[in-house]
Amino acid sequence: MEGIEFGNGGKADLIVRNAGQLLTLAGPDVPRRGTDMCELGIIEDGAVAVKGGRIVFAGRTRDCNWESETEIRASGRVVMPGFVDPHTHLVFAGTREDEFELRLKGVGYKEIASRGGGIKSTVQKTRQALKAELMELAEPRLDDILRWGTTTVEIKSGYGLERATEMKMLEVIRDLGKKHLADLVPTYLGAHDFPEEFSSDREGYVNEVIKVIPEVVARHLARFCDVFCEEGFFSVEQSRRILKAGLDHGLPAKIHADELASSGGAELAAELKALSADHLTFASDRGLQAMGEAGTIPVLLPGTSFFLKAPSAPARKMIDMGLPVAIGSDFNPGSCPISHMPVVIGLACIQYGLTPAEAITASTINGACALGLESEIATLETGKKADLLVLRVENFGQIPYFFGANPVEAVVKGGEIVL
Ligand SMILES: [Zn+2]
Repeated sequence: MEGIEFGNGGKADLIVRNAGQLLTLAGPDVPRRGTDMCELGIIEDGAVAVKGGRIVFAGRTRDCNWESETEIRASGRVVMPGFVDPHTHLVFAGTREDEFELRLKGVGYKEIASRGGGIKSTVQKTRQALKAELMELAEPRLDDILRWGTTTVEIKSGYGLERATEMKMLEVIRDLGKKHLADLVPTYLGAHDFPEEFSSDREGYVNEVIKVIPEVVARHLARFCDVFCEEGFFSVEQSRRILKAGLDHGLPAKIHADELASSGGAELAAELKALSADHLTFASDRGLQAMGEAGTIPVLLPGTSFFLKAPSAPARKMIDMGLPVAIGSDFNPGSCPISHMPVVIGLACIQYGLTPAEAITASTINGACALGLESEIATLETGKKADLLVLRVENFGQIPYFFGANPVEAVVKGGEIVL
């Protein structure tokens, strides 16, 4: 922010004027809870001025004294922060549409896995793929996500289940981050599943996952450590060991919790003061209560439950309990190929019972909180990074209402018009 004047007036790099609804999401840089989730800080006939990649003004157009040669007229449009997707598995090789069809015919996950499908097929193909191939596959996915308004994306490793491929995936995320306009946040998920070679020595694999952590940290390849904590996968004890090892090396914890059954994941998240616990379809009331006290953010993934025809997470209950709900896409080749946040917002409303305003808070500032980026992005306020969207809708309620449509007309990333 050095060298930027924060007074009202002067020469800006870009001004967006006359927004029908400017959703500033203004407020303290903390997770939004309860009725605060409905407060979008709406300014009618709003303007945003940008300089040096930062917001220098956000308010009413008539109060904006900044000038610029580059202007966007946004009358009759919604202008809002770029979406933050705090949960994806975007780097992978191979697709699984054959498995999708089998599932439609009623074939169960175990049967699919025994035919060589499921996560094991993705692991096999991702292990075989060269770094350049993984980059080539991931880049258009990111382009597409940006076109639908997501400007910050978390990406997990977890299709290697062995040191070399986990490192390869994290390197791909790092290299993509340097190349791509979207900001990427890498997470180490060596504990996504057990690899076949350790099927009779699960503790041995837990040790392998832990052994990799110091290298991941020393090479700055991940900002978080995540575990798939679930019956039949990583037990609470195994998850605790892995996440504690991450914490000991300075990696805040994230956890895939209670997606398939109430497995004690929410309770563990609270015990470790995890930054987020994700899925939570079957989380216990006790676990949710403890998460609230610990400050753990629930990241809900309505696209996955929709795609799998699985039950919805109790989102309304969480909001009523005062939990700061965030939403993510969970984009991955098996359980959720849905990557577009406007679609996820629609599903959060239709399937999970969020109001449109709550879903927008969940996909911006609360998502940023789930990545520890709340003081940098996801609201339109002076000093924040200028990541913003111009949407071809008259009001924010039309984002979920025109379900399946892409409302994005322009994307401004770090102050540059990129789309
Ligand atoms: Zn996931």
